[in-house]
Amino acid sequence: MNPQKADMIPSYFPQGDLVGVLTTQPLDRLLDYKAPEGGCHLGAFVEVPLGPRKVLGVVWGPGQGDYDHAKIRSVIRVLDVAPMRQEMRDFLTRAADYTLTPMPAMLRLGTRAPGLGDAPSMRKVYRLGPRDPDRKTAARDKVLGVLRDYGGLAFTLGELAEAADVGTSVVKGLVAQGAVLEEDAPRDTPYPRLDPDYGGKALNPDQAAGAAALRTALRKDGYGTTLLKGVTGSGKTEVYLEAVAEALRMGKQALVLLPEIALSGEFIERVEARFGMRPAEWHSGVTMTERRRCWRMVGQGDAQLVVGARSALFLPFQNLGLIVVDEEHDTSYKQEDGVLYNARDMAVLRAALCGAQVVLASATPSLESWANAQAGKYARLDLTARFGAAVMPEMAAIDMRVEELPQGRWVSPTLRDAIADRLEKGEQSLIFLNRRGYAPVTLCRACGHQIGCDHCDARMVEHRFQNRLMCHQCGETKPIPVICPACGAADKLAAVGPGVERMGEEVAALFPQARIAVLSSDLYGSARAMKAHIAEIAQGGTDIIIGTQLVAKGHNFPHLTLVGVIDADLGLQGSDLRAAERTFQLMRQVAGRAGRAATPGAALLQTYQPDHPVIHAILNGDEESFWSAEATERRAAGVPPYGRMAGIILSGPDLKALFDLGNDMARRDAPLARIGAQVFGPAPAPIARVRGKHRLRLLVKADKSAPLQSALAQWVAQFRLPANLRLAIDIDPQSF
Ligand code: ADP
Ligand code: ZN
Repeated sequence: MNPQKADMIPSYFPQGDLVGVLTTQPLDRLLDYKAPEGGCHLGAFVEVPLGPRKVLGVVWGPGQGDYDHAKIRSVIRVLDVAPMRQEMRDFLTRAADYTLTPMPAMLRLGTRAPGLGDAPSMRKVYRLGPRDPDRKTAARDKVLGVLRDYGGLAFTLGELAEAADVGTSVVKGLVAQGAVLEEDAPRDTPYPRLDPDYGGKALNPDQAAGAAALRTALRKDGYGTTLLKGVTGSGKTEVYLEAVAEALRMGKQALVLLPEIALSGEFIERVEARFGMRPAEWHSGVTMTERRRCWRMVGQGDAQLVVGARSALFLPFQNLGLIVVDEEHDTSYKQEDGVLYNARDMAVLRAALCGAQVVLASATPSLESWANAQAGKYARLDLTARFGAAVMPEMAAIDMRVEELPQGRWVSPTLRDAIADRLEKGEQSLIFLNRRGYAPVTLCRACGHQIGCDHCDARMVEHRFQNRLMCHQCGETKPIPVICPACGAADKLAAVGPGVERMGEEVAALFPQARIAVLSSDLYGSARAMKAHIAEIAQGGTDIIIGTQLVAKGHNFPHLTLVGVIDADLGLQGSDLRAAERTFQLMRQVAGRAGRAATPGAALLQTYQPDHPVIHAILNGDEESFWSAEATERRAAGVPPYGRMAGIILSGPDLKALFDLGNDMARRDAPLARIGAQVFGPAPAPIARVRGKHRLRLLVKADKSAPLQSALAQWVAQFRLPANLRLAIDIDPQSF
């Protein structure tokens, strides 16, 4: 077994001793219990009685014993999983302090293990049987379809019924007929060993130097972060997979975080080609059974590599040596619900606490990471050329002020000609528009009314494939009306502005002979269906791809030689100080899709402001000067990464109550003033109303070195929240 196991268990409580248990229940203190028969270790996962219920907890330390010993109840049982390690407890504590999150909520992230309390051998699982059912029904087909889709994977009864959306009796019926097999669940099986020396590629000199630097850093056996920067296609993935290989050789575990689960299919295959076996996967597209296996195997050191979404940071790694954050600038690393944390920053914290290395990979790093490298806090590796023959695409603006375009059309003649040229040569084109649906606005031509969501401060977006209007804030849908809900005029409602679905129509009309695919996350029933479609497109089964942000990220489309951006100005509107950075990153990423194989690519940006400095920087690709200029502006404004910020979001049904509290908070800011912090607002939050609740935001700005968290905690503690009003603290908000 692992030699570190002994110091994993620093302390032990014999039966009857008092232990302090942190539960996942919203309480602000540890609860005292007596250690059960057989005692328990510090960090043990336990089930404890709380009132009439049994709840999950972790033994966090000795009990306080500050009330009647006789009344203290016993731990019910110790769960059959390795105790939580000291470094994980430290990580949760520090992460809670940083994000000002109560510990129970933090613990919930660390215990998101399906069936944590189950005894593994007690369960039945179900898989595809050898026979067809004697009679087919829609419900039976659904069950068999799910089992076929997940090729060979076993489900528990509940999971299978839920995935197929049928009652459990349907499954049982299929079992009786031999169409589905019922088996005892195997104990969670370890993942196959990965071979670090299996399929490595011969690296070019840049790559080899990068890989060597990462290997050296790993061998030093301590914390460090490296920014790995290189244009899309420069071979960053190959380089960091070498670091993964080195971690495996050292007997350590590695974690690769990806921003988008849609990317993981392609990525897993690459890992398999490199290491001979598939790694463990952790994200919302993975079945409960598999997640449960992953959590347990990670905890006992029998999963060497995990590929996952941000929450994989909270897996109970035993011997973590390396965390890779791919596309580190991606905004989806920020969790915007529940515990508000940025997985990139938490990866650095986790690594610092367990002495691991971090690799932040990106073609367009966040200004935060760029500045940290600049300041010498992070090492920096640059891959300057694209791998092999591929070169960065030629970039050019299409000046929309001079293009002749009929009303309701968005593909300029210049772009149209470029697409026609690619079609003739049998090459792929990508039309990029970061707007899902058919049209962003449904407008009444009689009265000017725009159809909005009933619950949010957002317009309803027409989705013609689904034939409904949808709110992108809360997901609410409604039928597309024929009569204007405001003035009652019939047949006056018009779709205004383009979404990707509408671009599909326009492009189909322009190029009736072309094979066209619209790629948008909402057009798929499942992550699997989306992956399959993306793979097919990558094979070259499509002439013109029309896509949202989804296509900007990491996919390899080897036949793609032209990228056309419908509206390069889209991200530059609004007052967000990060708008320039976002637009720059997104446009460079999208452009990077073109010409990844031997054929050189081109990127054409339709814009009404070709002289805008950000558009200039995108076109000439002078990244260092773009970032320097951005850095200068942010430093002058005292905002991140040169100052610290926090958002306070107040939400509730009563706007006046929110403003009353918000104004009161802005006035009574002494704890903040003491550290020199300033309060702005209250003002409507970037999303001002969601699901019927209003949202206000106060922004707090402080010096980089100010003790912001403790001041915030003191400040917020002064106020009593009326019932039904919620306050959330967002450290390092995404927009400011
Ligand atoms: P990035 O992660 O920077 O976008 P990738 O690592 O995905 O770049 O590399 C781009 C393409 O070049 C991929 O198809 C990859 O397989 C290929 N490639 C990169 N490095 C090598 C190498 N040393 N030998 C062979 N192929 C490589
Ligand atoms: Zn809504």
